[in-house]
Amino acid sequence: KKRAAQQRFICQAQIEGKACDAKSGQTFAVINPATDQILAQVAECGDDEVERAVRAARRAYQRGIWARQSPTARKAVLLRLSELIMQHRDELALLDSLSMGKPVVEAWQLDIPGTAHFFSWYAESLDKIYGQVAPTAADAVATVTRSPLGVVAAIVPWNFPLEMAAWKVAPALAAGNSVLLKPAEQSPFSALRLAELALEAGIPEGVFNVLPGTGAVTGQALGRHPDIDCLVFTGSTRTGKRLMEYAGQSNLKQVWLECGGKSPNLIFADCHDLGLAAENAARAIFYNQGEVCSANSRLLVERPVYEAVVERLIALAAEWTPGDPLDPNSRAGAMVDARQTAKVMDSIAEARRQGARLVCGGERLTINGVTNYIQPTIFTDVAPDSLLAREEIFGPVLAVQPFDSEQQAIAMANDSHYGLAASVWSGSLNRAHRVAQALEVGTVSVNTVDALDICVPFGGGKQSGFGRDLSLHSFDKYTQLKTTWIQLH
Ligand code: ADP
Repeated sequence: KKRAAQQRFICQAQIEGKACDAKSGQTFAVINPATDQILAQVAECGDDEVERAVRAARRAYQRGIWARQSPTARKAVLLRLSELIMQHRDELALLDSLSMGKPVVEAWQLDIPGTAHFFSWYAESLDKIYGQVAPTAADAVATVTRSPLGVVAAIVPWNFPLEMAAWKVAPALAAGNSVLLKPAEQSPFSALRLAELALEAGIPEGVFNVLPGTGAVTGQALGRHPDIDCLVFTGSTRTGKRLMEYAGQSNLKQVWLECGGKSPNLIFADCHDLGLAAENAARAIFYNQGEVCSANSRLLVERPVYEAVVERLIALAAEWTPGDPLDPNSRAGAMVDARQTAKVMDSIAEARRQGARLVCGGERLTINGVTNYIQPTIFTDVAPDSLLAREEIFGPVLAVQPFDSEQQAIAMANDSHYGLAASVWSGSLNRAHRVAQALEVGTVSVNTVDALDICVPFGGGKQSGFGRDLSLHSFDKYTQLKTTWIQLH
């Protein structure tokens, strides 16, 4: 009965400045993983809505109501949006926490201010991108300038719902594109709210549209649409491969992918502070319930300090025991949903079957009668070819392996089909540089973990994807170079 009553809350899509239902009448339920209750039914955008949104976005682009506004004017609007995000900080943090289970304090302290900062940073950057004059011929002037692409679609995951959206939406809008955003089906609320705030800030109708729905329906419709110029994605490698297929089968839209990782964290015996290294190692894997693409899920430790590091980690893990996401003392919360919880528990069972030694955690926890919580979990004696050593688990599960030489550590670190990030702990500057150069990843953090800042690019190689988010390099994805050759007569 309670569920039936809750199902009356309907959230609509945001297309061309208006809230609307799906023509098909289809909705999907968004469930709070900390209560197992339905938060709302949300319109599932199908082919009709995607078509309508693409047309609106294209029309807005061609009319130039955003792309051809002066940079100063666009900057002012995006700065206003950044302010509005901070004004709605409590609400946006709560929406993300309720839908995907992260501690609300975490969202409030990091995700929402981070999102606001992305918008202000790209707002401030957009009028500082100069073109070039190329030295071609004496009787010609050749300029190389950047122009927007047109219509950009962003498909984003649920682990940092608003922040991941902002990584794509802020630079895409700053560059002058029209944008379609598909949030993950687990966490569409903050994105829908962002669309309302964008209108309030002065982004013209049609320029920013939010299309909630599942990957199979809405995501696929976006991937296959022939009039989208560029599709940017953060999510699993499996889905990334599908998006490239869709692009190949439709209009060869540009595709940029930020997929998974199995990022190694290398602790050498000459590390200057093992306590700090252990604290960071714990944070890197247990923060956000381990639902982080660049989580350092493989810990490689040089033999002489192996036992000491494992011991410290076991002690530190307890600090990351999950709690109610709304409790301000919780450092970790619920897993995103029952499916992901079961998936992570299956991986833990498989790791045990494959002979890894469970030294900490490994159990599901029940909080307020709900079982979507997992203890911080550590395995040692992890075989190099086991699932635990190779596959992304996307949960609070750490695989620890010893090594005996720098060469072996590098080989183990690079023995992965992923190439997103890595960390290195060493007191030797030479070693840090040597190892950093040898690691096949997009970001190396030295004597820290998960170095991330809007000023530096983020992204990976191998099957972690390609293209970079953040920094001015992000504009490479959202603009195209135009050469104009003027012959002088
Ligand atoms: P995860 O397994 O972590 O949920 P996914 O890659 O499935 O990662 O999801 C990331 C985003 O990709 C979500 O917004 C999801 O809806 C979307 N997605 C999933 N499958 C598809 C698909 N076949 N086509 C397009 N988008 C998809």
